[in-house]
Amino acid sequence: MICDKCKNKNAVVYQPHIRSNLCRECFINDIRERVKNELRQAGVNKNSKVLLAVSGGKDSYVLMDVLSDYFEPSNIIALNITEGINGYNRREHAEQLKRISKENGVDISFTSFKEEIGKSLDEIMVRNQSVSACTFCGGFRRKIINSTARNASADYVATGHNLDDEAQTVIINILRGDLIRLVRFGDLPLKVSDKFVTRIKPLRKIYEWETTMYSFLNGYKFQEVECPYISRRPTLRAKVRELLYSIEEEDPGALLKIVDNFDRIAEGLRKTISLDSNLPTCKICGEPTSYGRDICKNCELLLESGILQGELLRLNR
Ligand SMILES: [Zn+2]
Ligand SMILES: [Zn+2]
Repeated sequence: MICDKCKNKNAVVYQPHIRSNLCRECFINDIRERVKNELRQAGVNKNSKVLLAVSGGKDSYVLMDVLSDYFEPSNIIALNITEGINGYNRREHAEQLKRISKENGVDISFTSFKEEIGKSLDEIMVRNQSVSACTFCGGFRRKIINSTARNASADYVATGHNLDDEAQTVIINILRGDLIRLVRFGDLPLKVSDKFVTRIKPLRKIYEWETTMYSFLNGYKFQEVECPYISRRPTLRAKVRELLYSIEEEDPGALLKIVDNFDRIAEGLRKTISLDSNLPTCKICGEPTSYGRDICKNCELLLESGILQGELLRLNR
């Protein structure tokens, strides 16, 4: 089978959503071009400074690779956060991240929950039975990422969400009737607080299988380790994922259509709903919190699980 694009090399990848067979080079170019388009459409300047949160999984490699093709690598800061999950956070991942960063000319820094809030996630979970580990973890990761980016004067925080994640999020927001989240969802970055560094999701139009293929074809040796807390996670996302995969299988390109259509809906919604331009700030940590709150969800969780307030103040940098 010959590549549909260059009509020269042997095809190694089939993209069902455009019914196209591509060779290695044309596939890698296709991904890079789609990421560039996404960034251009979102109005992201090539000379921006961007913080990249990297977990060590394949998406972080893909993100680092495609972004160092768009931005000046010296303007990219990679950040890895060790949550403190026994068996999940491994030293070889950190070593691998260091090597990949160096190869891309990107500076990387490392921090941990222990350093930032005085407790590892495992230690927090021992004290807490009422809130899921993922709720804790997600909230604190976002908070650390945001404050690190702000202190580094980064223009953007880039996350590794792919098309599968994005399509799932659209459906979940609809099922929950979460209009505010739907409005904030679109492709254009929306700034709701001066303290929030604008978030971009460069991979949001790239299928998850494509990120896997991209890292494979680039020779990345990765070993995905599943977080031990994942099985205790709410199952709505898992159900939506199954549903979407069966739709995609019958109608390749369905996920792209869902996200594209909802970008347009979100754009329309933004014209009719005005979001308060500045979120309130948390009385304890000083970080932005949701409308109508005076203590953020993170601090509330720490208070509920009896972890001292003093330890939180370290995040208020
Ligand atoms: Zn080709
Ligand atoms: Zn707070």
